[in-house]
Amino acid sequence: MSCLFCKIIDGEIPCTKVYEDDKVLAFNDINPIAPYHILVIPKKHYDSIIDIDEKDMGIVAHIHTVINKISSEKGFDKTGFRIVNNCGEDGGQEVKHIHYHVLGGKKLPVYEN
Ligand code: IMP
Repeated sequence: MSCLFCKIIDGEIPCTKVYEDDKVLAFNDINPIAPYHILVIPKKHYDSIIDIDEKDMGIVAHIHTVINKISSEKGFDKTGFRIVNNCGEDGGQEVKHIHYHVLGGKKLPVYEN
């Protein structure tokens, strides 16, 4: 198995865990771009959002529920945060295991065209 995030799930590669249940793992990004930069991933491997069938989309709702839980535990639910899901080459996805970046703890720059 060569997927980096599957290795983190299996404990082969260490991470700083923020949340875990039977379906999802959340951990700190190794190269944070905000005071809070947490990655939330499903334990089941999907390369990207494109690979999740409609019948399996419940995992995405669950990930968002977990993000809400983390944001209120950390306290950045009050100030706001950003959720980013990069998909594929043009989307800037480097790790091919779907993940949601949760960025908080500072005022984030607005996207420009
Ligand atoms: P992507 O560009 O959306 O695929 O984001 C991949 C993210 O994974 C980047 O923000 C990296 O900093 C992060 N990352 C890569 N390797 C590790 C690791 O071993 N632990 C935690 N985060 C990682």
